Amino acid sequence: MEELNCVVTNIIQVSPIMKIIRVKPIGWDLPEYKAGQFVALGLYGEAPKCEEATEEFKEQEADKLVRRAYSIASSSTQEYVEFYITLVHSGSLTPRVFALNIGDKIWMGKKAVGMFTIDQIDPEQNVVLVATGTGVAPYMSMLRSNALSRKGKVMVIHGASNSWDLGYSSELSLLETMFPNFSYYPTVTMPEKEPAGWLGDTRFIQDIWEDGVVEKKWGMKPNAENTHVFLCGNPNMTNGMTEALEAEGFKEHKKRELGQIHVEKF
Ligand SMILES: Cc1cc2nc3c(=O)[nH]c(=O)nc-3n(C[C@H](O)[C@H](O)[C@H](O)COP(=O)(O)OP(=O)(O)OC[C@H]3O[C@@H](n4cnc5c(N)ncnc54)[C@H](O)[C@@H]3O)c2cc1C
Repeated sequence: MEELNCVVTNIIQVSPIMKIIRVKPIGWDLPEYKAGQFVALGLYGEAPKCEEATEEFKEQEADKLVRRAYSIASSSTQEYVEFYITLVHSGSLTPRVFALNIGDKIWMGKKAVGMFTIDQIDPEQNVVLVATGTGVAPYMSMLRSNALSRKGKVMVIHGASNSWDLGYSSELSLLETMFPNFSYYPTVTMPEKEPAGWLGDTRFIQDIWEDGVVEKKWGMKPNAENTHVFLCGNPNMTNGMTEALEAEGFKEHKKRELGQIHVEKF
């Protein structure tokens, strides 16, 4: 059996089904990676599951390493790696990850991969970073690395069901007060569940885009010549936004075809 090569050093319970988890390599150096990339995390079938796991939770053979991809949320200069993870109650890996305590071990792949990165984009260009749920993780890595030293404008639009699912909202709000080129726009789609009410936007991200919220914030219209749009999270959002953007002349970025729409589906 391959060794569990990392230790959990920090856990923040963001909401009943969301956690921010930091892990540190045991006796090896993190490889260089670019903000926006992802790595694999894994636990063996023998690892205990959390109490919230449902009946459909899949038991695995004790020596089977269950692995899944997770976007890195920390800056590429840290000696730990941070993740923002949603519990899938019937899933194979996340109920095991949610049973971990500080000091427990976890396996992490030694290579970070992915093309969902901002560094290849001209720093004069504007970027809109759009996420649902834990899809904000790669943007935290970008913002905590060097995305805010860009000349162009940077905006995060983050959608979640409830305000307590908007992980990193304090950090993003603080960044907005510190960097004139950065703005943060959260939206909550189930405001009726907010005990203290919600004064912000409640629309789906596509409606927010089509209403021209970015143009109102920036005082200029984002278009395919001046702006790149990143989409990360729920496939309904990434597909809907891709369609809306393509209707405005934006093109999806592919390996051999430069475009302005960058997509990561969870
Ligand atoms: C490039 C990449 C980066 C990713 N980064 C992250 C990340 O930063 N944070 C994160 O939480 N997840 C991330 N994911 C998703 C992650 O890899 C797993 O799919 C997820 O954690 C579920 O794993 P599981 O083993 O618990 O469930 P599985 O046993 O794999 O899935 C059980 C079922 O749940 C569905 N499912 C998967 N994810 C969700 C979800 N979020 N909500 C509801 N149903 C779901 C699956 O379609 C499947 O039918 C990423 C995926 C990719 C491809």
